[in-house]
Amino acid sequence: MADDAEGRPAAKHAVLAGLDPEQRAAVTAEAGPVCILAGAGTGKTRSITHRIAYRALTGEVRPRHILAVTFTARAAAQMRERIARLGVAGVQARTFHAAALRQVRYFAARLFSGRELPELVDSKARLVTLAAARANARTDRTATRDLAAEIEWAKSSLIEPGEYEVAATKAGRDIPLDAAQVAEIYMAYEQVKRGNGMIDFEDLLRAAVWAIEEHTDIAEQVRAQYRHFVVDEYQDVNPVQQRLLDAWLGDRDDVTVVGDASQTIYSFTGASSSHLVDFARHYRGATVLRLVRDYRSTPQIVGCANAVIAQARGELASLRLELVGQRPAGPEPTIRDFPDEPAEAAAVAARCAELIAAGTPAREIAVLFRTNAQSASYEEALAEANVAYVVHGGERFFERPEVRRAMIALRAATRTTEPETPLHEAVASALESVGWRRDAQPQGGGTAREHWEAVAALVGIAAEHADLGLEAFCEELARRAAAQHIPNIDGVVLSSLHSAKGLEWDAVFVVGLAEGTLPTSYAKTPEAVEEERRLLYVGITRARQQLWLSYSLARTPGGRSRQPCRFLPGRHRAAGAGSGRSGPSGTRAGKTDAVRRRIVITCRVCGVTLSSGAERKIGRCESCPSDRDEELYDRLREWRLRTAGGQHVPAYVVFTDATLTALAERRPETPEELVTIAGIGPRKLALYGDAVLALVDGVAVDDLDFGAET
Ligand code: ATP
Ligand code: MG
Repeated sequence: MADDAEGRPAAKHAVLAGLDPEQRAAVTAEAGPVCILAGAGTGKTRSITHRIAYRALTGEVRPRHILAVTFTARAAAQMRERIARLGVAGVQARTFHAAALRQVRYFAARLFSGRELPELVDSKARLVTLAAARANARTDRTATRDLAAEIEWAKSSLIEPGEYEVAATKAGRDIPLDAAQVAEIYMAYEQVKRGNGMIDFEDLLRAAVWAIEEHTDIAEQVRAQYRHFVVDEYQDVNPVQQRLLDAWLGDRDDVTVVGDASQTIYSFTGASSSHLVDFARHYRGATVLRLVRDYRSTPQIVGCANAVIAQARGELASLRLELVGQRPAGPEPTIRDFPDEPAEAAAVAARCAELIAAGTPAREIAVLFRTNAQSASYEEALAEANVAYVVHGGERFFERPEVRRAMIALRAATRTTEPETPLHEAVASALESVGWRRDAQPQGGGTAREHWEAVAALVGIAAEHADLGLEAFCEELARRAAAQHIPNIDGVVLSSLHSAKGLEWDAVFVVGLAEGTLPTSYAKTPEAVEEERRLLYVGITRARQQLWLSYSLARTPGGRSRQPCRFLPGRHRAAGAGSGRSGPSGTRAGKTDAVRRRIVITCRVCGVTLSSGAERKIGRCESCPSDRDEELYDRLREWRLRTAGGQHVPAYVVFTDATLTALAERRPETPEELVTIAGIGPRKLALYGDAVLALVDGVAVDDLDFGAET
């Protein structure tokens, strides 16, 4: 389609169709720095893929000059798929690591004095243990893990062993040993690694940076190849990745970034949404766009997500963006508790089976958890319930042992298969040699079933290429493996919250929402706790139609009891009885119009678009004069005085003056509007929501009932 001169206007038109005005502005923005700051499900990834396609189809840029980067292999695969569907071929869409690996491998001879790329460190734990022993430090498993994370943070932040002590103190790192000792272990780690002739993931990114910064010829070659850059999930870029992006760009500025500060979940590796937030300062003349309409989730799910992030504290909290649900109403999110983990897993599996029986494809269901160790009980429960599953969404599909074995068998069969043999026959007979048969699908879920489904996915690819011979088919598979073009395997997706980023499913189960698991017991600082909250927010916003949040009171039957996750909106529900709320999120069904109206984007006083979270909250520029309704303000003060008196507490405990001012300026008409005001969370909404709404509605203080509060 892209090559057909006649077809281009139509294709170009198609790329612009199905975009809202802001998305269209992003897609058609002129060459140069573009930044989209927007919440989950608002179409950021859609905007950048369409921008890539649009620019390619109009002939403005050549696809092979575009490099799109993101953070997970699965998201990269999805990006490639979306671009291909828009009729554009040849764009590189990779993770930062894959892009760096490709570049370093390509220039390896020049970078490693004629030698090949050194072996990559798989997991740091072993080397860290050796390094700790060298530095005379004793470590257990937890300390080893913490040290590995600390080394990762330092390396991603471009901090060398000699600089570590000062940098860690300055950054207020919460570390297992004293900083000098960590620095020593970090130094020893580097020596042990080098001694073993290995490099780690961070080295790979750093090597890609130095390659460009220190070799003019490499810089020229890389920059001639890649001229237009796109970064998805930019809120999670860390200093070394940013430096690589800068190195790729050189003195050019054709870069589009998109991100959401509320989805920053890699701070522990040194990622910082400041790159996103400060983009316009870094790149002069940048086009900055904002999207607020959520096209992914039902208003019920959007309400729940907003309620979770509305409680965020700290630096990033002011950057949160209120989502406005666009989809038709759906079921309320389910919040469930169970006596123990096996019971929770069994209930999740049973519900998955029900959804599948009712027509939801298994691959449109995901079970998300905080740590990979939680996967096992869900694998077991799903197998027990005869539900097929895929662990990690198959991002390493072509590295799976059963897939590799199958590919070797196919390759071997090319030597013995008659050229005219129809592909499906050739494939079937080759796979029989590794014990795979179409009619031998294992019953139930389980590992055997998972392996069978993976090989079945290869057979599915063969069915799409019936006209190829076996040899050409093997080449097609090799091409897909190199491009990480992952087939869809049918099965409920089991994934960590971290690797679910950017993806979406019809039904999402976020499980294990107990204190100690989420937030993890390792989250010791307020910042770490906030990151855990964002992780839950990422999980919730993956769901299109159905959302299930659950926790178990004990890990094992009869085990020690735990508290439910503090971020769960439902925790404050009991107090809200009678406040007219129907869901855990505080959203009323059928309130989508009100929800839509509630978003304040322009200043009430001067009309300019508001960007900062604080200004959006008060609905006007901080420098613009207040347009407080003085009569309402007086009534609110009077009501506060009486309420506080009745409870024998100081007035500010009920509401601060700033909150009263915000109320008298914004005049909220619904509970949803109320919670957007600073100082009003679910608890205050439950306690005072009805009274405040009545006052805004014009009711006199004397007509209010203070009985409930006294
Ligand atoms: P995240 O922050 O989770 O990465 P995102 O902002 O990248 O989310 P997308 O994945 O691009 O959001 O879009 C979310 C969903 O909404 C997708 O299914 C997408 O196709 C759909 N969508 C986006 N924009 C529109 C639109 N204008 N009309 C209809 N559907 C849309
Ligand atoms: Mg996205």
